[in-house]
Amino acid sequence: PAAPPVSGPRLRAALDGIPAYSPGRPAGQEPGSFKLSSNENPYPPLPGVLETAVAAMSSLNRYPDMSAAALFEALAEHFAVPAGHLALGTGSVGIAQQLIQATAGPGDEVIYAWRSFEAYPIITQISGATSVRVPLTATEEHDLPAMADAITDRTRLIFVCTPNNPTGRAIRRAGLTAFLDRVPADVLVVLDEAYREFVRDEQVPDGLELYRERPNVCVLRTFSKAYGLAGMRVGFAVAHEPVAAALRKTAVPFGVSQAAQNAAIASLRAEDALLARVDALVAERGRVAARLAEQGWTVPESQANFVWLRLGEDTSAFAAACEAAGVTVRPFAGEGVRVTVGETEANDIVLRVAGEFR
Ligand code: PMP
Repeated sequence: PAAPPVSGPRLRAALDGIPAYSPGRPAGQEPGSFKLSSNENPYPPLPGVLETAVAAMSSLNRYPDMSAAALFEALAEHFAVPAGHLALGTGSVGIAQQLIQATAGPGDEVIYAWRSFEAYPIITQISGATSVRVPLTATEEHDLPAMADAITDRTRLIFVCTPNNPTGRAIRRAGLTAFLDRVPADVLVVLDEAYREFVRDEQVPDGLELYRERPNVCVLRTFSKAYGLAGMRVGFAVAHEPVAAALRKTAVPFGVSQAAQNAAIASLRAEDALLARVDALVAERGRVAARLAEQGWTVPESQANFVWLRLGEDTSAFAAACEAAGVTVRPFAGEGVRVTVGETEANDIVLRVAGEFR
């Protein structure tokens, strides 16, 4: 049969309804204003990290090392994993997209909690696979028994975001292992640990422990948050050989620049200094949470570098009030606002606004 007439190139229906980001609206970048909307690290790069990234610029006419040999070696040593169990991505969101490409397509199902990291529904939809969202509990935690119940023969991938974006809650060992015990061996579980370095609850396991025990667990980490390299776009996954190899197959060629590779290596070497900054941010998180509690807010205990204010219908008014006071936060319409723990001055502005909303 003849194809129906089309008025332009035919685009996949799977893309319908996905909002395209609008170009040309930088947030919180005017002098004297603050950006607490993307969970970035407020500290500027360490001089040594900056220097090695800048040094890469003298070879901008060359592609980066495609095998990223030095970074793989540094990561393998740092985390005590075989280099063959690693994959790099253009940010960890790039790897999340590769994970779906590697596991799921039309007819397959991808499970994740909701609300969680907003990229999961988008990248699932792009793949043509079906999203299965399992609501968080009343205390903003993953409902792991319900997530296990949601597994079907069509399930290929499960995203578990811990600590969870945007609620900040992290999953403790007992619940997580009980959940993993219920996941069939042929279903991949991704532990998205973008905020792992901010965790202080000792009952929250390091995903790498779980990966070591289970071939169907993949750990996702990033240099964007604790390591302060959001602008460099470098994330990595740790998984057993077949999964890690699939991720290396689906990677965008040369997707991690040489500057990013250099900066990531230097950051691993400078980890002590960077983790001291994380300690300061964790202390600041404690201060912000305590003040909010004093003001009468119920804030889920955050193990990440942000706090979650459930505001319901007041969400957009709160975000607008922060904006007017010089701070961009991240509203989720009708639900709440996620506020990054950033510069003390910026946090104080948000606390002032929050006080006015009680
Ligand atoms: N996972 C989670 C849970 C996140 O919140 C983010 C960043 N917002 C990412 C992954 C992606 O970060 P990046 O691509 O910068 O590594």
